[in-house]
Amino acid sequence: MSCKWTIRALAAAWVLAGCAPAPESPAAAGTPAGAAQAPVEVSGERALEEVRAFLEVGPRDAGTPGAERAATYLRDRLRALGVEAEIQEFRDRAPSGELTFRNVLGRMPGRTDRIVLLASHYDTKVGIPGFVGANDSGSSTGLLLELARAFAVGAPHALEIRFAIFDGEESQVEYGPNDGFHGSRHLARTMAADGSLSNVVAMILLDMVGDRDLTITIPRNSTPELVALAFAAARTEGVRKHFQLYPYNVGDDHVAFFERGVPAIDLIDFEFGSAPGKNDYWHTAADTLDKLSAESLDVVGRVAARMVAELLARAAGK
Ligand SMILES: [Zn+2]
Repeated sequence: MSCKWTIRALAAAWVLAGCAPAPESPAAAGTPAGAAQAPVEVSGERALEEVRAFLEVGPRDAGTPGAERAATYLRDRLRALGVEAEIQEFRDRAPSGELTFRNVLGRMPGRTDRIVLLASHYDTKVGIPGFVGANDSGSSTGLLLELARAFAVGAPHALEIRFAIFDGEESQVEYGPNDGFHGSRHLARTMAADGSLSNVVAMILLDMVGDRDLTITIPRNSTPELVALAFAAARTEGVRKHFQLYPYNVGDDHVAFFERGVPAIDLIDFEFGSAPGKNDYWHTAADTLDKLSAESLDVVGRVAARMVAELLARAAGK
């Protein structure tokens, strides 16, 4: 993910530029999302096992054979979980030259053509010796697979559920039009072109969701209705303390959708380090599996699942 880079480098500038914090948490205005009973059975233990197995594929820097192996693995894993899946391959310019990128897309047809899009990225940041990327980007990818497994039970649902696991989220040098967010920009563009983008009722992005010390900091550039839905779902699940509103915009894969008017939210934990404010696990060789916990994956998984279940219930008119 890009946010820490963005925040550290630009937070002061944004404040000076008048990027004021959002007024206040909409949590107080929210209502409980759905009944207290769990909408689907999501398991943090299973999600962690998905992360562990995925990391065995190895480094997955965009444009490398490792990334292609990872894309193939994820496509096959989605298929094994009962999800229609394909690799969306495309070429795009990057600082190192033109590269081949591969998004992994999954689809669970619904009873209407309206769509809930669940997303993660799977590429690793280039140029970090020994980098495994357990939290960034293994955690969200493993949890997405567990959510796919959970929602495959009982399908078709009132909405189509799509899964997008993006390539090329990480920048090679510095975020810009040709560096970073390649996969999400490409999918938003292709969905706009085929007309399906306007059917997306919610895009829920997961990023760095496995840290043992979990605080999800929802960026300001998220759709207020989805922020309220997230807080309500967290409250119903009894995990509200792990969710906060972050008062600044964050660059991440939801932006390509958010800027096109698609309701979008980024469930991301910025802080990833050995002590508050240190961030020394982020984009370093210390981002390893032992820094993650099944409990954190469980918390985010249950909240994301309840958000989706609430959207399904609304679509079904319940
Ligand atoms: Zn990253």
